[in-house]
Amino acid sequence: MGRFEEERRDMIELLKDRGITDERLLQAMSKIERHLFVTNAFLNRAYDDTALPIGKSQTISQPYTVACMTQELAPKPGEKVLEVGTGSGYQAAILAEMGCKVFTIERHVELLLEARKLLEKLGYRIASKAGDGTIGWSEFAPYDGIIVTAAAPEVPEPLLKQLADGGRLVIPVGDLDVQNLRVVTKRGNQLDLKEVRGFKFVPLIGKKGWSAK
Ligand code: SAM
Repeated sequence: MGRFEEERRDMIELLKDRGITDERLLQAMSKIERHLFVTNAFLNRAYDDTALPIGKSQTISQPYTVACMTQELAPKPGEKVLEVGTGSGYQAAILAEMGCKVFTIERHVELLLEARKLLEKLGYRIASKAGDGTIGWSEFAPYDGIIVTAAAPEVPEPLLKQLADGGRLVIPVGDLDVQNLRVVTKRGNQLDLKEVRGFKFVPLIGKKGWSAK
């Protein structure tokens, strides 16, 4: 067994120990090679349960955070999912591997282009664009799931509007130091809310997010 394969297996065991039970998610994370999504300088830490720099002062999220958000999103095969914050493309690859039709938006063009190149090379067919994801991607709405991988001051209204009936939105909301994960389920005119406490993300910057410095 290769070095990364063994490290990936240990990562999966750790995720299970931390309460991740979604088998399809665990399978996708066992298959996807996280070391391809991190910069060379951090290759030896690719399977640590930690966020790692990917350039432009951004990060690939911690494996547990990715797993926890995806488990809360509970995506089913064939569902249409919008991701805000493509970053390295790792989360998008997981959603595609789970059978979703993935749409992803990143505000840093350079990161988007890198991620797009890698996702294409790995054979994932994902729709992506550079832009401000706080206003969503109305052209392809409604979405069965929306996942925001950066910290928002509040839930952006356009994302709620672009959620299908029965759809789930997973988004970290709080101040810049600590956030809670909000899981919003749309049921007709009603929004059901669940919160998971204590996360730390890079800021969501945009029209309905934080302002750029
Ligand atoms: N999902 C990513 C992955 O798997 O590598 C992790 C992303 S990182 C924690 C958050 C990303 O959100 C950053 O790349 C950042 O540039 C991006 N971002 C922040 N505000 C944004 C916005 N308004 N629209 C789109 N992307 C945004």
